[in-house]
Amino acid sequence: MEKSVEVQSILKSLEPEDAAPDARPDDSIFTQLLERLVQGYSLRIETGAEESDSLEILLDGVSDSVLIVSPAGSILNANHAFYRTFGYDREELLGTEMFALLPQGQQAQFRQKFADFEAREGERHAASSDDILAFRGLRRDGTILTLDCLLSSIHCSGRPAVLMLIRDLSFDHALFEQLKETKDHYVALSETITEAIFRLDEDFRIIFANSGVKNTFGFEREELVNEPFRILFPPEVFAQHEEEFKKYFVVDDADRLSLGLKRTLEVLGATKNRGVAPMEMSFGNSKEYKGRTLTCVIRDITQRKTLERRLRHLAYHDKLTGLGNRDLFNEDMKVLLGEAREDPAWKGAVLFLDLDGFKRVNDTLGHSAGDELLIETARRLRVCLRDRDSAYRFGGDEFVVVLGGVRESGDATIVAERILSTVGNPYILRSKGKNAGGKVNVGVSIGIAVIPEFGATLEEATRNADIAMYCSKEAGKNRYTLYDPVITAKATEHWNTEQELAASMTSGGLSLAYQPIVGPDGRVRGMEALLRWKRSDGRNVPPGEFIPLAEANGTIIALGEWALRKACYDTRRLHSRGYPDLFVSVNLSGRHFDQPTLVPTLADIVRRSGLPPGALCIEVTETAVMKNTQDAIEKIKEIKRLLPGIRFMIDDFGTGYSSLAYLSRLPVDALKIDISFVTNLEDPQNEKIVNAILHLARSLQLDTIAEGIETRTQWQYFAKRKCGAMQGYYILKPSGLGMVAALAERQSGVLRRTVSAGEPAEG
Ligand code: C2E
Ligand code: MG
Ligand code: MG
Repeated sequence: MEKSVEVQSILKSLEPEDAAPDARPDDSIFTQLLERLVQGYSLRIETGAEESDSLEILLDGVSDSVLIVSPAGSILNANHAFYRTFGYDREELLGTEMFALLPQGQQAQFRQKFADFEAREGERHAASSDDILAFRGLRRDGTILTLDCLLSSIHCSGRPAVLMLIRDLSFDHALFEQLKETKDHYVALSETITEAIFRLDEDFRIIFANSGVKNTFGFEREELVNEPFRILFPPEVFAQHEEEFKKYFVVDDADRLSLGLKRTLEVLGATKNRGVAPMEMSFGNSKEYKGRTLTCVIRDITQRKTLERRLRHLAYHDKLTGLGNRDLFNEDMKVLLGEAREDPAWKGAVLFLDLDGFKRVNDTLGHSAGDELLIETARRLRVCLRDRDSAYRFGGDEFVVVLGGVRESGDATIVAERILSTVGNPYILRSKGKNAGGKVNVGVSIGIAVIPEFGATLEEATRNADIAMYCSKEAGKNRYTLYDPVITAKATEHWNTEQELAASMTSGGLSLAYQPIVGPDGRVRGMEALLRWKRSDGRNVPPGEFIPLAEANGTIIALGEWALRKACYDTRRLHSRGYPDLFVSVNLSGRHFDQPTLVPTLADIVRRSGLPPGALCIEVTETAVMKNTQDAIEKIKEIKRLLPGIRFMIDDFGTGYSSLAYLSRLPVDALKIDISFVTNLEDPQNEKIVNAILHLARSLQLDTIAEGIETRTQWQYFAKRKCGAMQGYYILKPSGLGMVAALAERQSGVLRRTVSAGEPAEG
């Protein structure tokens, strides 16, 4: 209880005027209190009234570092906070010089200060700002501490001493540095970025603008600060968005999405010299800073918009003619059909157009003439249309027109007639092809589907317009047909067949039959791959029906590639089952030779299959190679170069009008005598032709195959004349791969006995 009485009496004796005005006020009182306590204690210790460790207990209760040194700098006492700050134990420092805890440069000021204190010895004076020293201390681990201390002179154990109340400023200092750095960083950032940054007060007045405003809006920042935010927008745009902007002001980022506010807004901004420009705005959280404020970042997106427009144009337009492409047609149709659903009175029309005679121009005058014709057609189509109508090009010579709103079907036929007459005018082509510079005439076959009546969906509309166009072609081209379910029934059937055939490769309706090709010894040497198509209704369609259809609409390209791929894989399987010498003969349509990619495609298919090219023969008809002989010769040569060992055979030989001269130039390996000569052997004229063919082949060193051998007589006839190989029902009808393998298997036993007879092992 003695202690508390003493403290109270000391507190009472502390007069307020003791504190110097510019000293740390709290510290001043605190130090004086501490001073007296220390002195009182040391006195009591001296007189033996108190244990000396009581002072330490007292000092340890103080959170700042307290150090008591002699005027010479020797450490007399210190508290726990002091030792912890400097990283030492009490025993290590007691009695040592406190100067050791200071960097060299700092020692002098303390020595001076202590000397002053000693000179004024006994003089009590209140702590003043002079008694505060900022200094750096050395921790035991070598780190530097930023500190300040309040010095006061005391008497300790009867001798003068200096009491130091030390405060660690390192933390404050680091925080300050950090804040400064952050601020510098933000300033640098806001001044480097090209976007405009604004801070707005709640009246939407600009209270801050960065230098990016110059780049974005063309204004100096000084021109904008204190101005209303609205001057950065066309008046109607600001009016339209004002309420929204205000929402951003009051709603913080985290809540914006749930309240339906977007992360960014695209608006038109008003620049100083460039007129209006598309801008993208984003908002920071509103902040309490002398009232609530909102930060807003605005970026000029003119370039991005232009790029987007250009990309969109590229993606949705045909490069050659600039018309919309199929994707754009699909998009536009979705919109139109949506409108039609909402307004039952709405009517429109889809017109499918196919140029008649375009292929001829392309083939005879060259591709640049063809391109010129397509470009001119696109121009003529545009002329025929109103603003709300659109024209598209789907590729090749296929164009589509969509009439966005007609009163009745008659309106659509008027447009069709206009197109017919415009496209019907002669084209003057400037391209430098060999026959260029002349007039060409083309026609156009048009199919019209009125929507939504005959096309409530995109699929239905395109299908019906396509069917109607097919009717126009069937009816003699260069005309239009209005889709009508009754009139176009036959065409619809045809259209469905085409669609089903195109899908057959993946739907499983397509297969290959194999017919063995045997040598005069009757032994199987290879087989011909023949396409088979079974429709979804279970009906088998003969190749004589579907091949011409596929040739007419181009599906034959995919079908032929499918057949080649499958035949190669099947034959390789046969090889690995123990028949490595069998070859496969695959039919290739003349349409394939029109394909610029024929050579690489074919080489790729064969290589991927793993079939040795020597086990592959390609059958082409005379007409196929006669159409563009030089081109065919080059392609065949190139294929032979890429796939050494591959053979080419002329199918149905004798039906075309191949001249000897041309035949000798063709890089082919065999002739397949047409079935008609085999069937009519009794005809003496026929026999002469067969003999001539065999003779010709021999002199040109070409192999021969007779196909359509149905009888023993026919077999013997060709065997006697040393025809290289034979194929026909007499040997085996086109069958599954297993049948061919089984025949070869049976023969390998039978042939050992009957080979001299020169008859096929099985009939
Ligand atoms: P092609 O290439 O001349 O095929 C021979 C045709 O004669 C096959 O008719 C075959 O079944 C038939 N045939 C074979 N032996 C006899 C016989 O002893 N008597 C009779 N009367 N006919 C026999 P198919 O399979 O109906 O094929 C017809 C045509 O379809 C083929 O004639 C070929 O030009 C074409 N074709 C078949 N498959 C393909 C193919 O994958 N691609 C192409 N481009 N055309 C193919
Ligand atoms: Mg054939
Ligand atoms: Mg044939």
